[in-house]
Amino acid sequence: MSFGVYVHVPFCKSKCPYCDFYSVFMRDAEIKEKYTDALVSEIRAFAKYFTPGNDTEHRFIKEAPDSIYFGGGTPSLLEPIRIREIMKALDDTFGRERDREVTLEANPGTVDRDLLKGMRAMGVNRLSLGVQSFDDEILKKLGRTHRTVDSIRAFEDARAAGFKNISIDLIFGIEGQTREIWEESLKKALELEPEHISLYSLEFMEGTVFTRRLQEGKMKETDPEEDRAMYERAVELLKEAGYEHYEISNFAKPSYESRHNLKYWNLDDYAGFGPGAHSYMTDETTGQGQRYYHLPDLEAYLKKPSKVEMMEPNGYADDMTEFTITALRLSRGIDKIEFCERFGQDFWEFYGDLAHLQFKSFMDTGHAWESEEGIGLTLKGFNVSNQILSIFV
Ligand code: SF4
Repeated sequence: MSFGVYVHVPFCKSKCPYCDFYSVFMRDAEIKEKYTDALVSEIRAFAKYFTPGNDTEHRFIKEAPDSIYFGGGTPSLLEPIRIREIMKALDDTFGRERDREVTLEANPGTVDRDLLKGMRAMGVNRLSLGVQSFDDEILKKLGRTHRTVDSIRAFEDARAAGFKNISIDLIFGIEGQTREIWEESLKKALELEPEHISLYSLEFMEGTVFTRRLQEGKMKETDPEEDRAMYERAVELLKEAGYEHYEISNFAKPSYESRHNLKYWNLDDYAGFGPGAHSYMTDETTGQGQRYYHLPDLEAYLKKPSKVEMMEPNGYADDMTEFTITALRLSRGIDKIEFCERFGQDFWEFYGDLAHLQFKSFMDTGHAWESEEGIGLTLKGFNVSNQILSIFV
């Protein structure tokens, strides 16, 4: 089974008012050194769980990761030398897969050509740029510290540094963002010709400044119909430009799908390192999926990097349900034969006739499809995916 590694870098220069990812204000450069040391010690300590045959509590499959993802926070705040230390610890622990995807999330305001060249030299071969918008007024509203000119410069610097695989993140459904403004951002993104584009509808997450403002009546949510119209227009423009709409929110030039994110949607194994990081690993001895996570607490992590919170092991029914919910986010849907081979049970036998009937009613309205081989959602279905997926919960 393929395996991925996620490394969380929990530092940001300031907190964006819509964001609920775990991050802290980066107070000084010294913390980066301490944090890198903690990560390296956690990764090295993981080796004992990773080698098959070791008499340890959890025995995980040993296979070098084919994807490594530095997410945040703002991983581009780490210097290349720190990335090198972390990569070395990963290689020593897990081995080195020749053909691997190594992604680094970067904030356009925190990178320059030299830094990007340094990252490239450390083996980073995919850059995920948090552009969010190519409109400065929208960027201000989102509390972003960079501007459009920084995004374009960062993209050009990345190309000059040798990055041949760049992803751009964009957000829509923001108060004051008209369809024209949104379309303009999409067109500017397309002019840069990135290999991958992720589109996110603004969500009001618990505990964020935006949610507080919404509750105080100081902000408005975008009308759902308007939000959907923006999404559909984006799908249209990106498809016209040759991107494959391979997941609800993700678009890629052929063969540039995010290998790492596909692991989440396919319920493949991944190990997460750093505060707030989550993992899902199959225990070789039981065949059960084991989830665990680190508390989102930097100070606690620095004191004891290997401490994780274990969750109840997944039973087969949990695995089948989780797989169904995530895999139906993919345009290709679920291959029923693969499902049967993987879980040892027929898809509809597991979910039952009532679920099948409910699914068929979504097929009648053009929201879903089923063939001999598989089932999936249509574009119309992606718009109401929560409703359809509730059949399988
Ligand atoms: S830079 Fe990214 S991780 Fe940091 S607060 Fe903003 S959105 Fe969140």
